[in-house]
Amino acid sequence: MQPRSESGPPIATRPSLSTLSLGELRELILSRGLPEYRYRQLARWLYDKGAESFDEMTDFSLELRRELEREYALERLEVASRRDSAVDGSSKYLFRLADGAAVESVFMPTEKRVTLCISSQMGCTLDCVFCQTGQMGFYRNLEPHEIVGQLIPLWKRVRGTGTRTNVVFMGMGEPLHNVRGVVAACRLIMDPLGLGLGPKRITVSTAGVVPGIRRLARSGLGVRLAVSLNASTQEARERLMPRAAKTDLRELVGAAREYARRFQSRVTMEYVLMQGVNDSPRDADRLAALLAGGPFKINLIPYNPGASPELRRPSREQVDRFAQRLFPQAPAVTVRWSLGPDIAAACGQLHVEAADPPRTRRTASPRERGGS
Ligand code: SAH
Repeated sequence: MQPRSESGPPIATRPSLSTLSLGELRELILSRGLPEYRYRQLARWLYDKGAESFDEMTDFSLELRRELEREYALERLEVASRRDSAVDGSSKYLFRLADGAAVESVFMPTEKRVTLCISSQMGCTLDCVFCQTGQMGFYRNLEPHEIVGQLIPLWKRVRGTGTRTNVVFMGMGEPLHNVRGVVAACRLIMDPLGLGLGPKRITVSTAGVVPGIRRLARSGLGVRLAVSLNASTQEARERLMPRAAKTDLRELVGAAREYARRFQSRVTMEYVLMQGVNDSPRDADRLAALLAGGPFKINLIPYNPGASPELRRPSREQVDRFAQRLFPQAPAVTVRWSLGPDIAAACGQLHVEAADPPRTRRTASPRERGGS
């Protein structure tokens, strides 16, 4: 058999199938005079089955496989590392992108379902005081195929098992600063020829980008929305999330209410609980008053350490007390004890070390190359 690079144009010049939208994929098949069912087969290999080479596409003739391979690349995101938690079955993946950028994603199994947490940007512009992603700075938005690409190896672990699976945009970045990429990715995740997940199985979490909430609503996708509130007053929010808090808290709650009404699904209000910062009984009362009677759920997230030595996680009793104070006055309250604490995969802990320079591929040092 000929080496790959001799069987067609150099790999780099072949368009990559995974960067095409489903519409473009269909066009490609039809323009070659192939029947439409070939498009559906190809889409299934690319997404649901996550093929890594044309040779896996066993319902295609050898000739068709070779023909496709001559003209197209089947690039996947490179899994640079995978760490499995010893305590709760979660795994953190580090993906290396084509330009050297890197992002993290998390696989989280619980008794009843699996949650796949993905990133929408490398880094983040927001710099919230409690979150490590902001501290690494911002490099770039991810393209739709780089967002969906994170799901391919994670999906392989659940497909066919009948496990209820959710996708959450709660990894690195602010999804609503990348609405174009996130909406296109959601369309692929929802398409029966993509991963076929319903809109209620997908949650987009935002630090509070109101124009983004409105654009997401206009997309008509109807995915679930979560808003990282994290404070019960505008002043406290400005201290904790100075950039995100440029939008007034009440306007944000109003935009969330509109979203919930439009899609008839409650919006989750996330609230990272930090000891002595936002966990007093008064905070609970103000939070309840702010959200009173609204179409909301409250999700309390005990702070995961790492971003600041000054911040502490409240004790289990303090978290319970806060939840109980909230509960009779507020809509559904749940507590999220994040998975993956031993592999730094919990909420707010995703970041890529500065030693992995983005944009430029890491090249081996003379010593690594075997020089002196
Ligand atoms: N930028 C988006 C999505 C990423 S963060 C957003 O802000 O919603 C996902 C969730 O993790 C958010 O609710 C955020 O408030 C929370 N989070 C960030 N840092 C955290 C930390 N150190 N401990 C617990 N939760 C944290």
